[in-house]
Amino acid sequence: MQTCKEEVTIIGAGLSGSLLATMLSDVGYQVKVYEARADMRKANISAGRSINLALSSRGIKALKAINIFAEIESSLVPMYGRELHLSDGTIKYQPYTKNGHDAIYSMSRGELNKILLDAAEKTKNVELKFNSPCREVNLENKEIIFADNSIEKFTNCIGADGFNSALRKSICDSNEVNVEKLGHQYKELTLPAKNNDYQLKKNALHIWPRGEYMLISLPNADGSFTMTLFLPEQGDYTFTSLNTKALVKDFFIKHFADVAKLLPDLEEQFFANPVGELATVRAEKWQQEKSVLIGDAAHAIVPFHGQGMNCAFEDCLLLYQLLKKENVDVAQAFNEFFVKRKPNADAIADLAIENYEEMRSKVRDEKFHLKKELAWHLKELYPQDFIPRYSMVMFYEIPYSVAKKLGEIQNNILDHLTEKMNFISDLDYRLASNLIENELTPHRKLLWIM
Ligand SMILES: Cc1cc2nc3c(=O)[nH]c(=O)nc-3n(C[C@H](O)[C@H](O)[C@H](O)COP(=O)(O)OP(=O)(O)OC[C@H]3O[C@@H](n4cnc5c(N)ncnc54)[C@H](O)[C@@H]3O)c2cc1C
Repeated sequence: MQTCKEEVTIIGAGLSGSLLATMLSDVGYQVKVYEARADMRKANISAGRSINLALSSRGIKALKAINIFAEIESSLVPMYGRELHLSDGTIKYQPYTKNGHDAIYSMSRGELNKILLDAAEKTKNVELKFNSPCREVNLENKEIIFADNSIEKFTNCIGADGFNSALRKSICDSNEVNVEKLGHQYKELTLPAKNNDYQLKKNALHIWPRGEYMLISLPNADGSFTMTLFLPEQGDYTFTSLNTKALVKDFFIKHFADVAKLLPDLEEQFFANPVGELATVRAEKWQQEKSVLIGDAAHAIVPFHGQGMNCAFEDCLLLYQLLKKENVDVAQAFNEFFVKRKPNADAIADLAIENYEEMRSKVRDEKFHLKKELAWHLKELYPQDFIPRYSMVMFYEIPYSVAKKLGEIQNNILDHLTEKMNFISDLDYRLASNLIENELTPHRKLLWIM
């Protein structure tokens, strides 16, 4: 613990707000956190945007920085690959990496948020205030105005208030924020445990790719799975058009027959559970003097790369590193944070949208699998140069913008090499070596600019 620094006010005690509160307290700041909802450790409320989440290396690194990872480790369910449930009933398992050991981890959002709140409270430098929805922020007077019209002054303000951030509305004019709707919505369903056991392969992320729509499923520690159905807003099947129990049942029997058999209460769940919206938020400004946005407030993304929270935790880690310096100029640190993170937030936003196309459609294509296999083969042959893009995002902390750039070059190389290939044994090794040397190696230094 360091000497006491300035006071920091955080709006939002979700995933990033509660983690950052602990980090800042750890380096001597007095932290006040205002959260709109009730204390989820006492009230029975939903934790927010999804029931469970995939945690990967960036998020883990941030949690380890303040020794919280050890507390959640036993609640994580590792997922070592994708299990694809194809329309013809076949099942195809695709490990995330060739060694089969690299995993992403499914975790209950609510449990994680509660652990983060406990950790923040334990530090003694953090004051958590629940049922305190912020209505607006007056940046000039440094005031937070709450829904009940009460006002609190602040010295430094961090907006961790998610997708509809109130602080963002004060920092940016409406023409400085672009909210791009995906055009697809989602609904969660629960597949319960049977005889205390999992009804699908436990250590995998399950995907039912169906082109315009898809179903995915992540395991929970209690033996259940949380399934998420994604449907377009327009088309044959939408959450609006599936408006009777019979239509829902028919839709599942036709397109997800195996799931229909496992969910006896499918129709009840379908009509009881809400429809969620998906959009990407790109804000041109995240900072104004001593106020800054982090996490979804700054850069909400669609969930198809499992990176929204991981990216938000990476934000927290960078701010923690910048603000822990002695005699820090907070406004300058906030600006440095924006300059460093903005290109990376934009890149992961693009990659997340692209990954939707991959998950719901491309995974059904034989060429896609050949390219994946070739990518792993090239990784073995050129371990310093060729790291498959999925791995760069999920298992490394390579900046997202670098992963995106290198991923594009690698994808062109894979397209070129697989033009005349049907099997890995058809690989033209000389061509591969030339392409890597001429097109990828010159960009290798990008990997070390972190
Ligand atoms: C279906 C789905 C699945 C996802 N899966 C994954 C995944 O597998 N992996 C991953 O990394 N990410 C995933 N994400 C993304 C992830 O949920 C978000 O990126 C993450 O929650 C961002 O954290 P945050 O703290 O910035 O915002 P939030 O978690 O949204 O927290 C914001 C907090 O601020 C509070 N708040 C809001 N407005 C106010 C206000 N005016 N005043 C006071 N408090 C306020 C809210 O109540 C909330 O507690 C998924 C998202 C969705 C929708």
